Formats: sequence, C-alpha cells, structure tokens
Amino acid sequence: MDTEAIGRRFAGKAGILTGAASGIGRATALRLTAEGARLLLVDTDEEGLKETVRLVGEQGGRAGGAAAAHAADVADEESVRGAVAAAGERFGAIDVLVNVAGFHRVVPLEEVTVDYWNRQFAVNTLGTVLFCREALPHLVESGGVVVNTASTSATHAHPYMTAYAASKGAVLAFTQSLAAEVWGRGVRVLAVSPGGVATPLADSVSFPEGADGSYYARITPPRGMGRPEDIAAAIAFAASEDGAFVRGVELRVDGGSHA
Ligand code: NAD
Repeated sequence: MDTEAIGRRFAGKAGILTGAASGIGRATALRLTAEGARLLLVDTDEEGLKETVRLVGEQGGRAGGAAAAHAADVADEESVRGAVAAAGERFGAIDVLVNVAGFHRVVPLEEVTVDYWNRQFAVNTLGTVLFCREALPHLVESGGVVVNTASTSATHAHPYMTAYAASKGAVLAFTQSLAAEVWGRGVRVLAVSPGGVATPLADSVSFPEGADGSYYARITPPRGMGRPEDIAAAIAFAASEDGAFVRGVELRVDGGSHA
C-alpha cells in the first residue's frame, strides 16, 4: 500500500478490530493503522495475528498507527470482556470498533446440524453483539463508531450457505436497531456488506456433489472478485469522520454484482 497517498483520519484514535489475522480483517488493520489508528487486533489465529502485527510494523507507524495482538474467540463472553478491558486499559479510550471475524461452510440444508447452526450464529452474530455490548460504555464516552461486517448474503440469495446468510441477516438487523438505540448517546453504528472478495474464506468455497453452483458465477462482480483492500477502504471511510452522515445502514461493497 502507498501509505503516503492516503489520509490520517485515525490519528489519535484507538480501537478494536476482530478477525484481523486474515483476509479483510488484516487489510483493514493495515489500512486503519496506516491512517494513524492504534488497534487491538482480536482473532483465534495467533500466528496470523503475529503476521498482521509484523506487517503493520513494516508500514512504519505513520501518524502514530500501531497494532497489538490479542488472541480471543469472539463467541466467548468472558474472552470478549477481557479483550475490551485490555483495549480500554491500553488506550484509555475506544473510539472505533470494527467487527470482521466470521466464517462459513458451504453445505446443503440437509447437512446443517444444530451444532453447526449454533456455531455459525455464535461467531458471526453473537460475537458481533458481545463486542458491541461490552464496548458500548467506552464508545458512549468517546462518541465512537461501530462498523459491523455483514455480507450480501444477508439480502441476496446464497444457496448452500443458508446458515451463514441467516447469521449475516441477523447482523444487519441487529446493526440497524442498535444504531437507532444508541445514536442519541452519540455512537454511530453501521454495517459494511462485502460481496465476493478473494480471501481464504471465499477461496474455500466448493460446492457439494450435484449442487448447481452456476448461480454464484452470475453474481461474480463484472470485473472479477474484490480485493480485501477494497473492503478495508470502505470500512475506513465508514469508521472515519468522512462517514459521519452514514449511520444505521448497510454499505454494500460488491463491485456491482447485486446491482
Ligand atoms: P478470512 O477467513 O480470511 O478471515 C476471517 C477471520 O476471522 C480469520 O482470521 C479467522 O481466524 C477469524 N475468526 C473466525 N472465527 C473466529 C472466532 N470465533 N473468534 C475470533 N476470530 C475468528 O475471511 P474474510 O473473507 O476476510 O472474511 C471476513 C469477514 O467478511 C467475515 O465476517 C465474512 O463473513 C465477511 N465476508 C466475506 C466475504 C468474502 O467474499 N470474502 C463476503 C461477504 C462477507
């Protein structure tokens, strides 16, 4: 990334970013810190987190940007409390919360077990809810912002990903209602919905035997899959003062595939 060409919109700001060990989360860590953010990076993947912190260091701390790793499972209530407390102690304030951690499986409904359904919601939905709830007092104090990662699957059909789509639909509904609940307290909340982005998550998609995957070919963006950096740039806009008038909505970043 040409860090000289971008802004310093997060100079003096601190926050938490989940899912930072890979893909969109890593690109977002690089983008926000390049613009001056000090971030606590949360993920279950410790090695991936270390690599993201190394890459942030390589960028050179422009505008005071820095990152620290905090291994935690976003679906675990105590771990989320611990991560928020760690960020509060480290930075003295939480201005930005970006929830990116998530996963999916590609399976027909007949193979959606109760365990899988519950884990899908525990990570994608409850993880987002817990971070918002625990960070809220800090965000009220700082007049902060929350960016949740939904998905175009929340509003457009994604066959063989029913549990994932439902978990992201719940993220979107939660985001909209939370936005209205807290805007009077000075906290701005919105969601970014990526379309197809080339990351380990998207690359792992393979269709079950006999499944018709042609639908996905039709919703591939006209100019090909997005890059994690495309979503990171949208999250940076959404989380910055440039996005101040954007709240309670889904910012869809899908290269036009659902237009
Ligand atoms: P990715 O697999 O590259 O990164 C996801 C990260 O979340 C990983 O580092 C993983 O370790 C972490 N994670 C998973 N479960 C966790 C847990 N329980 N606790 C803490 N961390 C956990 O995937 P990505 O493509 O970068 O996806 C990032 C987000 O964007 C996800 O929420 C995903 O659903 C969403 N999304 C991605 C696409 C796409 O096409 N790539 C499209 C729409 C939405």
